[in-house]
Amino acid sequence: MFLTVLLSGLGSALALGSATSQEAAPIRAVATFSILGDLVRQVGGDRVVVSTLVGPDADAHGYNPAPGDARTLLEAQLVFVNGIGFEGWIDRLIKASGSKAPVITASTGVATIADQDHGHDHGKDHAVDPHAWQSIPNAKRYVANIRDGLARVDPAHAAAYAANAAAYLARLDALDARARAAIAAIPADQRRVITTHDAFGYFGAAYGLRFIAPQGVSSDSEASPRDVARIIRQIRKDKIPAVFLENIADPRLMQQIAKESGARIGGKVYSDALSKPDGPAASYIDMMTNNLAAFGSALTPP
Ligand code: ZN
Repeated sequence: MFLTVLLSGLGSALALGSATSQEAAPIRAVATFSILGDLVRQVGGDRVVVSTLVGPDADAHGYNPAPGDARTLLEAQLVFVNGIGFEGWIDRLIKASGSKAPVITASTGVATIADQDHGHDHGKDHAVDPHAWQSIPNAKRYVANIRDGLARVDPAHAAAYAANAAAYLARLDALDARARAAIAAIPADQRRVITTHDAFGYFGAAYGLRFIAPQGVSSDSEASPRDVARIIRQIRKDKIPAVFLENIADPRLMQQIAKESGARIGGKVYSDALSKPDGPAASYIDMMTNNLAAFGSALTPP
């Protein structure tokens, strides 16, 4: 008797569940990395379930796909990538997964910049810098591309995506104004920053801060002893006040540079990945706010 009641209760719960999901099943989307995942969530709202392949505090440059990634991609209705060569592993992974989902390149339409000149010639190629999201005007372009991609796959909810995007774009405009004010408050001769890898070229171009890094635009490349020695000389010569740790980079290189150059460590900045949810950079807006505060407090004399 009890069992029958239990089973019939379960049966009706299952029936209800499937009826509900048929009416309004959210879109299953994949974003390649955590920062892009946040932007997709902001636009998708409760209409989209977002899985990210490269999670918080993790490095997308040299990512080794996990066994579950192919299945995640196969189940997705829509895939968002950064593009500009950031995810060198994604095309092969999508192909291997058998996914036929549309792939939206979030950076489409941004003006790319070359690898920042970090003092030496690469010889064979000047890589294009993939970190376009570090400029808020570029992030707005990402949001527009995400909105249009979602509307293409789920046209019935295009108005909801447009409304979410509009609200979020207004928040990005406010963030952009705060960024400009924060950098303007730093004395002009202090607007130089050392980071581990060259992830802030777009930020620097948008807001007028000069970034110097011993590694190139990909964290894959090792900094050579020559690069490190050159940075130390430059810090001393230009009296660069602070170096910054990155959440995805080994801190030891910056600690060595700080020790040998006399620069202080200005805190941790987030370039290619968000922090974990309980950290200071759990969303794109929090990440940019955290980085601005770190640059501002380290580069402004007391
Ligand atoms: Zn990077």
